Amino acid sequence: MLKKTLDSIGFVSQFDSEVAEMMGRELTRQQDGLELIASENFASPAVIAAMGSVLTNKYAEGLPGKRYYGGCQCVDELESLCIQRAKDLFGAEFANVQPHSGAQANMAVELAFLNPGDTLMGMSLANGGHLSHGSPANISGKYYNVVSYDVNHETGLIDYDQIRDMAKKNQPKLLIAGASAYPRAIDFKVFADIAHEVGAVFMVDMAHIAGLVAGGAHQSPVPYADVVTTTTHKTLRGPRGGLILGKEEFAKKLNSAVFPGTQGGPLEHIIAAKAICFKEAMAPEFKTYAADIVSNAKVLAEALLQEGFNLVTGGTDNHLMLADLRPMNITGAELQVRCDANHITLNKNAIPGDPEKPSVTSGVRIGTAAVTTRGLGAEEMKQIARCIALTARDFEGTTKEVHETVAAICEKFPMYK
Ligand SMILES: *Cc1c(COP(=O)(O)O)cnc(C)c1O
Repeated sequence: MLKKTLDSIGFVSQFDSEVAEMMGRELTRQQDGLELIASENFASPAVIAAMGSVLTNKYAEGLPGKRYYGGCQCVDELESLCIQRAKDLFGAEFANVQPHSGAQANMAVELAFLNPGDTLMGMSLANGGHLSHGSPANISGKYYNVVSYDVNHETGLIDYDQIRDMAKKNQPKLLIAGASAYPRAIDFKVFADIAHEVGAVFMVDMAHIAGLVAGGAHQSPVPYADVVTTTTHKTLRGPRGGLILGKEEFAKKLNSAVFPGTQGGPLEHIIAAKAICFKEAMAPEFKTYAADIVSNAKVLAEALLQEGFNLVTGGTDNHLMLADLRPMNITGAELQVRCDANHITLNKNAIPGDPEKPSVTSGVRIGTAAVTTRGLGAEEMKQIARCIALTARDFEGTTKEVHETVAAICEKFPMYK
């Protein structure tokens, strides 16, 4: 059955055995391991099929009805459908479905609202923000004047009063909310009030939580933000790509910032896959899925606490948690390597105020979106917590036990049924 759903590998093998062999090994790795990377998920066979289609052959610079190429009748309809579904799914006035990735979506929004040297304010990378929110290593940090806010290092929580004070002092033109490693609900209304008080454009990057928002398991930023960016491949479970939503008044600015501002031709095969993803996310089962992601995360967090881990903020409201490993006397880098060897995939992650280097870290980030797609529930979350604890505490002594537990779970819950 699996071969049938993902026959692209079998097909490729007829023409390029080297590439097919590598694709096959990656499929096996995904099937035989527990995927706990908070930004990953398993797209549906229909989404994957659309990505591997003849739509990749088409150039379609511009927007539906306003293209720079002939032959765009079919892709015009397709992209219009995708835009409509994006607007319906999130209740947005405007959507641009062309950004190639989340970082590309953010770059376009920054180009739309800022001139070089203008001030933007976002969460620091070290505290859970994203590179594209003003890191010195990213174009956003090189072209704009960046003021970064941290979370409170004691509580791990966003300190809205501190952000208000910083915004008043620095008068940013763009205020960004949203993060890659924040385990709690974000209050977009409070952020919007701060942005309005200082006259800033308010952008929310909901890359991580878009699926929770679509499924009603997190407050939606759409009613509060001027513009919302996201990826489509994390909790939203679509193709690897980006999306911009916003108020109609900014439509022209945002569209031209994507093309010709920062991109060339759109990826119509990915846009087809996004359309399918939005349809899937509108189905009633997706509400259940979003709720299950959150309840699994809560069970996993509780079980990790019982195993002796510390969690930043003490738990989670969403799909992820940040374990502070210092009580276990192991670094994030070391636990990541050990987990990999035990077929558990997660990533090292700095904790607020981390004394270790970013390449080492004192924490790991753990997410439940992908394992929930496979159908794992509360019982398996407890088993996973125990496996991670054994891996951290007695790696050599328990490898066999952990391997057997992981293999049994993977066998019981196939990636594609
Ligand atoms: C993942 C992520 C992105 C970037 O997405 P890419 O598709 O990898 O470019 C942007 N913002 C946030 C908050 C993210 O978590």
